[in-house]
Amino acid sequence: MYRYRLCPTSLQEAGLLEHCGHARFVWNLAVEQQSWWTPRRGPAPGYLAQARQLTEARAANPWLAAGSQTVQQQALRDFAQAMSNFFAGTHRRPTWRKAGLHEGFRIVGVRRRQWDVRRLSRRTGEVRVPKVGWVRFRWSRPVPEGVKSFRVTRDRAGRWHVAFAAVPDPVPAPGNGQAVGVDRGVAVSAALSTGETSTVAGLTPGEAERLNRLLRCLARAKRGSNRRNRIKAAMARLKAREADRRKDWVEKTSTDLARRFEVIAVEDLDVRAMTRSAKGTIGAPGAGVRHKAGLNRGILANGWGQLAARLEHKAPGRVIRVNPAYTSQTCNPCGHRAPENRESQAVFRCVACGHQAHADVNAARNIRDTAVGRTVAARGALQPEGGAVNREPQSLLLPA
Ligand SMILES: [Zn+2]
Repeated sequence: MYRYRLCPTSLQEAGLLEHCGHARFVWNLAVEQQSWWTPRRGPAPGYLAQARQLTEARAANPWLAAGSQTVQQQALRDFAQAMSNFFAGTHRRPTWRKAGLHEGFRIVGVRRRQWDVRRLSRRTGEVRVPKVGWVRFRWSRPVPEGVKSFRVTRDRAGRWHVAFAAVPDPVPAPGNGQAVGVDRGVAVSAALSTGETSTVAGLTPGEAERLNRLLRCLARAKRGSNRRNRIKAAMARLKAREADRRKDWVEKTSTDLARRFEVIAVEDLDVRAMTRSAKGTIGAPGAGVRHKAGLNRGILANGWGQLAARLEHKAPGRVIRVNPAYTSQTCNPCGHRAPENRESQAVFRCVACGHQAHADVNAARNIRDTAVGRTVAARGALQPEGGAVNREPQSLLLPA
């Protein structure tokens, strides 16, 4: 996603909000319909049936008909996609959208016909939104070619953004035959087998303190008061800043890795499953749920899932997912495996050979070596970083 800050005039803002309202209305209608249907009543209506119903609804409701059909149809298509993601088991069931919380709509279509984008000056661009016209945005980086859709959103702090969807071009492989292991830790966001570590710049201590102060104020503010709304908006701005920094880190780190290494080995962790399990069930909340909830916040804050997804985009076919079992307990030089090896969250000290290392870096080396072991080592093709260059690109990897 290529995201830009959108700067609508107040008149345009009214038009955008109308689109948001229509998209939300149509989406919620689809959610309601879906929940009403049961197996006994037969299959729920699919996209085509819903599209027909939308035409009827537009004929019956002038306010809906006054809106953009493109926006409303797309909301239905997005819902159909969300349902099939749900049935595929990769996403949660689509839920009700609330005003002020999930404000957005998507435009998909032929550029220069349904929509368009152009640059006005060094720092300003414009996107043409159906029924609203040309809306300015901050040209913070070039809009990629081949964009087929964009999404307009309004966050809880009232900021508008436009995001153009384009799968980033793959970064060319460096051609050096080197493999790297990446351990995605909690204390340190990413540790490489090279010994490098990198951390997401979250909130500064000052910002974190301000967030805490706002949280305390919020507890005292009356429900529905202006003061409460102001506090919430200020908190949302801080959280948005944190999210921006995380996104920035994910983009920079994934590009850097794809550029420097032929093969990138990462832990195969289902982040979604991990976050879900912490909640437990009402019947069985389980021990350590509190502790786990804190850990999960850390994991998400560090953007693990985002980094893995970006790596797959930028280095297609060059990312190897490795089973993370024991990677944190095994001594990389001697191979001795024991839980006692992990002296603390940060320090690894082997009880057999005395090897001492940054715990996440040691794990990253195990991840790298597992991946290298799984590649066609017999060809002598793939080496740990610093190894010989003798390879056949793309043919290095065994199917996962
Ligand atoms: Zn050892």
